[in-house]
Amino acid sequence: MSFFQTRNGVLHVEDVSLPAIAEAVGTPAYVYSAGALRSAATSFVNALSSVPRKHVAFAVKANPNAAVLKLLAQCGLGADIVSAGEMRRALASGIAPKSIVFSGVGKTDRELADALAADVGQFNLELEQEGEVLGAMAQARGQRATALLRVNPDVDGGTHAKISTGRAENKFGVPLAAAPAIYERISQIAGLDLLGVAVHIGSQLRDLVPLEAAFSRVGQLITRLRAQGHAVSRVDLGGGLGIAYRPVEAVATPAAYGEMVARCTKGWDVDLVFEPGRVIAGPAGILLTRVIWVKPGLVHPFVIVDAAMNDLMRPALYDAHHRFQAVQGRSGTMCAAIAGPVCESGDTFACAGEIERVERGDLAVFRDTGAYGAAMASTYNCRPLSPQVLVDGNRFTVVGERNLLGDLEFAA
Ligand SMILES: *Cc1c(COP(=O)(O)O)cnc(C)c1O
Repeated sequence: MSFFQTRNGVLHVEDVSLPAIAEAVGTPAYVYSAGALRSAATSFVNALSSVPRKHVAFAVKANPNAAVLKLLAQCGLGADIVSAGEMRRALASGIAPKSIVFSGVGKTDRELADALAADVGQFNLELEQEGEVLGAMAQARGQRATALLRVNPDVDGGTHAKISTGRAENKFGVPLAAAPAIYERISQIAGLDLLGVAVHIGSQLRDLVPLEAAFSRVGQLITRLRAQGHAVSRVDLGGGLGIAYRPVEAVATPAAYGEMVARCTKGWDVDLVFEPGRVIAGPAGILLTRVIWVKPGLVHPFVIVDAAMNDLMRPALYDAHHRFQAVQGRSGTMCAAIAGPVCESGDTFACAGEIERVERGDLAVFRDTGAYGAAMASTYNCRPLSPQVLVDGNRFTVVGERNLLGDLEFAA
């Protein structure tokens, strides 16, 4: 079922027309579908139905909107966080501390202390010294911290270099070869309960082969650690499953992923943790924008829209493509580039290509922007952060205000 459909020639999110939202909050604006979020969360969990003991923690960095987190928490998802700010968002959204996984290569002492005080359920350690610091803090507090050791399996996820995290040269995890010795030493640190290992090889992975390669290396490591006498009881398989940004793009489905995971982890006898972000939130959001000008150009016209790279960084940052769709289609197509108002040529959403014909004043959307969209927005060019709207059936709620400072001060 699609939660984004054209009815009587007008694009709707669930039962709400996009012109009605533009009228209420202006443009640009992020619009999320509650139904799409619920459906993605349920599909992901159902795809893992043959995995007996599991915990699914939504990667908050993909979409930290409090209303989105609350909705996902109601679907039974926990949170995978990478900062104290994300921890506060998760807790404020009703996610239980025990359902929170703290990932990240640079957790500060302050963040570790805050997470201990909140009784966060799992710390994914990036290096031995982090285990020493965390263990000492926990001991001083008369607590024990539950930890996993993140390993770097040296697998190329076949994704954009900037979102690849599992190659040997990446900053994440400890090398597999060094893992048994490091694990041995961390397991002896007082104040820590080291339960197992974690892996996350990158984001927007379209192919299951690299994931399977990484998981099989983790499987070998589990055997090795158990042979050393460690009772490995929990393994975190990370996130990374991609989505189809283009209709023709071949991307592994959650169902196929679930089958692969079940096959790969058969006999591991551990609790499995998953950290999906994009696959849950990506397709559930659109960025609503208005055409300011159709500007003639030497080679082709430029469709200048009121959304810009500060609203949606992915094209400028990762050469990402987001499908552009008119809200009220006119007949015909045109060859144009789509760009925003920011004073950089990188503020381009699409190079010259065939798009639906649009005119000055028309509304349009960038599809599949529910993940790493608003999450990465900035106020560059002193542009306000765009509002965020959550549609549920025939109702919509403003869940993020248009605001020049946004909540940049909330970490203070
Ligand atoms: C970013 C990240 C995720 C989520 O990745 P997606 O591609 O959005 O699923 C999960 N775990 C860790 C450690 C991450 O850094």
